Amino acid sequence: MPPPLSNLSRLECSACHREYGIEPRNVCECGRPLLARYDLASVTRESLLPRRDLWRYLPVLPVSSEERVVSLGEGGTPLLRCAGIERTFGVDRVFVKDEAANPTGTFKARGMAVAVSMAKGLGLTRLAVPSAGNAGSALAAYAAKAGLEALVVAPKDTPLPILQETLLFGARLFLVDGTILQAGDIVKAACKETGFFNVATMYEPYRVEGKKAMGYELFEQLGGLPDWVVFPTGGGTGVVGLWKAFNELRELGWHEGPMPRIAFVQSAGCAPLVKAFEAGKEASDPWKNPATIAPGLRVPKALGDVLVLRAARESNGTGIAVEDDAMRSAVSEFARLDGIGACYEGGASLAGLRRLVESGKVKRDETVVLFNTGTPLKNPFPPKPQKLSTVESADALIARLKGIAA
Ligand SMILES: *Cc1c(COP(=O)(O)O)cnc(C)c1O
Ligand SMILES: [Zn+2]
Repeated sequence: MPPPLSNLSRLECSACHREYGIEPRNVCECGRPLLARYDLASVTRESLLPRRDLWRYLPVLPVSSEERVVSLGEGGTPLLRCAGIERTFGVDRVFVKDEAANPTGTFKARGMAVAVSMAKGLGLTRLAVPSAGNAGSALAAYAAKAGLEALVVAPKDTPLPILQETLLFGARLFLVDGTILQAGDIVKAACKETGFFNVATMYEPYRVEGKKAMGYELFEQLGGLPDWVVFPTGGGTGVVGLWKAFNELRELGWHEGPMPRIAFVQSAGCAPLVKAFEAGKEASDPWKNPATIAPGLRVPKALGDVLVLRAARESNGTGIAVEDDAMRSAVSEFARLDGIGACYEGGASLAGLRRLVESGKVKRDETVVLFNTGTPLKNPFPPKPQKLSTVESADALIARLKGIAA
């Protein structure tokens, strides 16, 4: 007999608290996102699995057993101490959680691993997603692994390597002249008329659970929780997942100290959540003409906006908008100061830290964890035309190096 489908006790609406069982379902009848709830009283640290990937946290994930897991080795990413950034920024302890190590090179893999495992268990065979890029290629990979069909709709100016990766994994890909919002409307309408199930950000309840594992990993790797986490935010599953993890860790009794403060970072060219945060609003308004080099941050309106804003406020955190140029410089600082290959979204975290230090919010003796959400290799948006040197022979190279050394 196959194992039971799920560890979940129920799905609960994040707004009206209406409850649902384990069934193929998107949002609540009221239209708001659903969140997974567990019987945490029965979870002990000993019940964590002896694995190094995301599935170590199976007792607090919706999938019931390892047999039902669709995995490509996601999670278990390194937490790296950043001595160069510490010196340069004047903060005693800075770490980066490097999500570039995930399958398909971004933290989107975590969410899709859990969403696809659940979808497969629920008997769904065709999955669709509107995506600014990375969610689409992650879905494509996990659907391939699970033997399911994937449909991706993305903006036509999504970086080419991401689109190529999506096709490589065998997904059906369609481009729209617009942003993830237009892609979202198209996918929603298409799902209604076809057998596709929509796994859009926050419109599907299990992707957040995969992201949540980042918080548990952080807790174990650091031996506790930091003072600050800084996260680049578009649709908000990262921040919502982390805040859910921190709250569960407290409810489990594993974490007793103060909660980390969450700083979410957006691009100045698309910062609806920062604007709402600063205006003291509970929800965001759609951002007009969003433009940024970081596709993961080009989300003009997030379905989970209320939850992101709540996490930032409840944690006594903040929202920060940074210019594209600051992201570019930060990517190069990450690389040169500490050997970290960061995407522009990851660069936004470091640019955010600079602002937090300048404004005196982050103190020297605090512990900060920055998130690098992906690899730089999927978005070679020309940072600035680079002058590349050629060399004709070993002798020529030696001469050049001696010349430099002299
Ligand atoms: C999607 C994405 C983000 C934003 O994450 P959300 O969970 O949507 O807020 C950040 N960085 C990268 C590389 C992404 O692909
Ligand atoms: Zn509801």
